[in-house]
Amino acid sequence: MASHLESEVIDVIKALNGREGYSEFKLAEALGKDVNATRNLLYKLHNLNLASFVRKKDQKIGWYICYWTFHGERVSAFLLAEIGRRLEVLKEKQGKEAETGFFTCANRCSRLEFDNAFDFSFRCPECGELLAQDKESGAANTSLTAEVKRLEKEIKALNAPERE
Ligand SMILES: [Zn+2]
Repeated sequence: MASHLESEVIDVIKALNGREGYSEFKLAEALGKDVNATRNLLYKLHNLNLASFVRKKDQKIGWYICYWTFHGERVSAFLLAEIGRRLEVLKEKQGKEAETGFFTCANRCSRLEFDNAFDFSFRCPECGELLAQDKESGAANTSLTAEVKRLEKEIKALNAPERE
């Protein structure tokens, strides 16, 4: 799962895209996280060559603070690849749903693929009600479709020329 970045890291990338020499404390504040959690995420970016830092001693408080610089072009390309990858997964899921459909009971306590529904003799493993094909499969699955649209929009925005 090395290519998979958790959404927390994506949040850091978004907060830092285009910034130079940004204090890790300011970033932590912007993200609403504590500094240690923020640093862990920053080091992940550093390992991916997406960010570099300089350590400076703060004269007032006497601590060392890291100031981070993000490599904008690489970040955009990276984000684009990451979002594209997620979109692919979602579209695959959408296609699979459209193809085989999902099965759910009237109470909607479980949602099973055909093979699983078959294994349970089309009875809900939770409540025992009969399973029927879920009408909200594939493109009719509104939450899935909304997510696909949202990601497509993000890709479009990232591909748009830089705003002044
Ligand atoms: Zn049920």
